[in-house]
Amino acid sequence: MNALAATNRNFRLASRLLGLDSKIEKSLLIPFREIKVECSIPKDDGTLATFVGFRIQHDNSRGPMKGGIRYHPEVEQDEVNALAQLMTWKTSVANLPYGGAKGGIGCDPSQLSVSELERLTRVFTQKIHDLIGVHIDVPAPDMGTGPQTMAWILDEYSKFHGHSPAVVTGKPIDLGGSLGRDAATGRGVLFATEALLNEYGMNVSGQRFIIQGFGNVGSWAAQLINEKGGKIVAVSDITGAIKNSNGLDIPSLLKYSKENKGIKGFHGGDSIDPKSILVQDCDVLVPAALGGVINKENANEIKAKFIVEAANHPTDPEADEILKKKGVVILPDIFANSGGVTASYFEWVQNIQGFMWEEEKVNNELKRYMTKGFKDVKEMCKTHNCDLRMGAFTLAVNRVARATVLRGWEA
Ligand code: GLU
Repeated sequence: MNALAATNRNFRLASRLLGLDSKIEKSLLIPFREIKVECSIPKDDGTLATFVGFRIQHDNSRGPMKGGIRYHPEVEQDEVNALAQLMTWKTSVANLPYGGAKGGIGCDPSQLSVSELERLTRVFTQKIHDLIGVHIDVPAPDMGTGPQTMAWILDEYSKFHGHSPAVVTGKPIDLGGSLGRDAATGRGVLFATEALLNEYGMNVSGQRFIIQGFGNVGSWAAQLINEKGGKIVAVSDITGAIKNSNGLDIPSLLKYSKENKGIKGFHGGDSIDPKSILVQDCDVLVPAALGGVINKENANEIKAKFIVEAANHPTDPEADEILKKKGVVILPDIFANSGGVTASYFEWVQNIQGFMWEEEKVNNELKRYMTKGFKDVKEMCKTHNCDLRMGAFTLAVNRVARATVLRGWEA
């Protein structure tokens, strides 16, 4: 099932549980605005390269739209649409005063030079600058983008609108970024996992984890889970996968992967087929890479008791059903990875206030939001007698629907 069909399905299930009016349901399904732009740049060798960029703004009833910009070869409209909708639910679960959006450019950033990436980012910003803004739509990093990308967007946007640091989050610290933002998605994954395990009378310490994906989210999650005493027994990234049943030496692996641009060749474990990582023996599986990786082909083979969705939509609905029957507990993406956008909110607040927080404050507030989020989700699970995914969806959809109704629809 494609990402959009899967996301719409989860939304509809939640909407039924809530008994939403079909007219509201329809208005929440259709995005506020879909932007598709041509981005042509001269390559370093003088030839012309053309890419397609998107910014899909899903909903703004609770506040400015918010979400990352992804640079990846698989970026296409339906997927960005699904990711934009997930952002609406994610900001709502976390109770941030935001709506949802997502953007992306279909490109392979590893095949572009830094100056090509800069040109591409500037051209994209030129095409969308009128439709984003501090109180309209606030982009952030996602797969294949990072603080430098945000710095270029800020610079280009400021040429048209004057200096506006709060127009993007996930910026470098020197340009108004927030301390703790870089680690926040991974730290949020740790807080979310702690909240989940505590519910079962367990702790992170002593549990065996598998982390699929060792980018910004996966590597921070691994580091922080390891520091809390969790045993990381397998890790994968685009270069390969490694396993060590006694626990991988995460500080050495982080150092190795930085120096070698990937984990392939690391000696502290056995190399395994990356496709098999999800079905290795563990207690907690943390998919922290692409969407759709847990599906009907592998769901039956999964050994984990818990899945913490650090990636966006890693589990498709067919797999959800299989895993539910097996008794696997899934902590859904719209809650589990909301630490990133929550710290983005703190960054935006600091920019608007013109006041910088200590890192400790960012991390403490993040923990407070994640703990409250888990409590709110559990409450909805009780009310609707449903699993955590539907608990998170009903919580999110209900808040957005209430805001929509309160605004009214007089033209
Ligand atoms: N790209 C991240 C996400 O999917 C962060 C979005 C943001 O900070 O606005 O949640």
